[in-house]
Amino acid sequence: MIPFSRRISRRIPSMRIGTFIGILHLLIGILGAGVITSFALFFIYKNGEQANLRGVEDLAAITQNALDEPVRSFVSGKGSSADIEATLSRYLQGHPEITYTILSASGEPLLPSSSSCSLKDISLTSPEVTTAMNEPVGHSIRNCPEGVRTIYVATAIKNGANLLGILILAAPFNDVMAPTYQTMRWMGIIALLIVAFTVVEGWLGSVYISKPLGRLSQTAEKLSQGDLTARAATEGPVEVTHLAMTLNEMAARLQSSLESLRAFVGNASHELRTPLTSIKLQVEALRACACEEPEVADRFLNQLEHEIDRLAYTVNDMLDLSQIEGSEPNFQPVNLGELVNEVEAFWETRSRQAGIELAVDTGQHLPDLSGNAYQLRRLLDNLLDNAIKNTPAGGTVKILLRHGLADSNYPKGTIRIEVRDSGKGIAQEHIPHIFDRFYRIDPHPRGGGGGSGLGLAIAQSIVSAHGGIIGVKSTLGAGSTFWIELPLK
Ligand code: ADP
Repeated sequence: MIPFSRRISRRIPSMRIGTFIGILHLLIGILGAGVITSFALFFIYKNGEQANLRGVEDLAAITQNALDEPVRSFVSGKGSSADIEATLSRYLQGHPEITYTILSASGEPLLPSSSSCSLKDISLTSPEVTTAMNEPVGHSIRNCPEGVRTIYVATAIKNGANLLGILILAAPFNDVMAPTYQTMRWMGIIALLIVAFTVVEGWLGSVYISKPLGRLSQTAEKLSQGDLTARAATEGPVEVTHLAMTLNEMAARLQSSLESLRAFVGNASHELRTPLTSIKLQVEALRACACEEPEVADRFLNQLEHEIDRLAYTVNDMLDLSQIEGSEPNFQPVNLGELVNEVEAFWETRSRQAGIELAVDTGQHLPDLSGNAYQLRRLLDNLLDNAIKNTPAGGTVKILLRHGLADSNYPKGTIRIEVRDSGKGIAQEHIPHIFDRFYRIDPHPRGGGGGSGLGLAIAQSIVSAHGGIIGVKSTLGAGSTFWIELPLK
């Protein structure tokens, strides 16, 4: 089943992020402000209606209290309707919108009838009047005969249990609600302002996000078209800046990998071309002289064999390097002490023949290391080969192993390997380059024996694959120490 989010995203047409954020903010603004404002307006309206109704009811109750006496006198024939009118105008003088009437117990108006629309159809059967017969106050909100919405409030004027009359106050609904309507209008204006603000804020936000994202996508496009010099501007929101930095880093790495690949191919071609040219020349020479001078032909054949060996040696080193860098390292527990002893046994004969003393110091308490035994063996072989090649007869070569925990001179959690020789040493200007591929201090050593120039590059790749570091200390004429620190993991 397709996840819900994917089903949704399939239906949304693809659009620019700026447009999307803009529309989203507009919707949120309109919906959010619309819903909140509707609730607020409804609440204000209802609240205003209740408050105004209560106001008219309170006014009716106070006026009815004051009317008890003049109405009683009028009904008993002692007083006049003018007294009632005077009392009414005194109590209602602050409310010009309110009209009134008083019905007698039989339903006749006690006062001269008003022309106000709201009082035209008042009778004892009006809903507010029937309520006021049994309760202190009755009210209704309805249209008067001319269609004006009106608040009616009625209250009974009694003498003990005797009904003397009914006071009815009528107020046009819209006049009474005018302040409430004003508040509602302000509320509407505020809601519109909120929508406008949300839209503007959404637009600014979308510009803030979409501009740098657009530039980022242009850079990505350039990179995908092969322009590895393209870099993204690191600006905009933190996430976009971070993305731009990561993209730039990736591009820089890609560019440097490609450059080193090109350099490697160039160097490798050069390295292979030299012996191939030499082979070609010797084969031609051989063809010319083979029959007449067998000794000369024999010399050429020896040189040919030497060039072919060199070629094979270089190709092997290149293959090894690409294998170490390209394959997943297969790590197993390796006992470095045993490995070093094996290496010593292997190189012992050659060093003895060269008149060099080979020694090993594996220290104590050496734990197993997680690594690739074949590669570690290759690493030690390369370093020993170099040390023996570069040390004259009578010199010494020593392999030293130390565990960081047992020996406080070295970092904890690491194993330190050192290959020390008392040989010719390396001049300072060569030291930064000796780990470079195909770098040789003396490309054509007297008496031959030059390597492929890949020995130390292979050593460095092996050490990196094991998460370690390799370095060298050397004094010209006094010897060199190649050191390696491998993490125990
Ligand atoms: P190669 O395979 O040709 O020996 P390397 O990468 O192993 O190449 O070494 C690079 C250069 O560093 C060599 O030309 C060599 O002269 C120099 N070198 C390496 N180890 C030593 C050492 N122990 N003493 C002096 N020079 C060394």
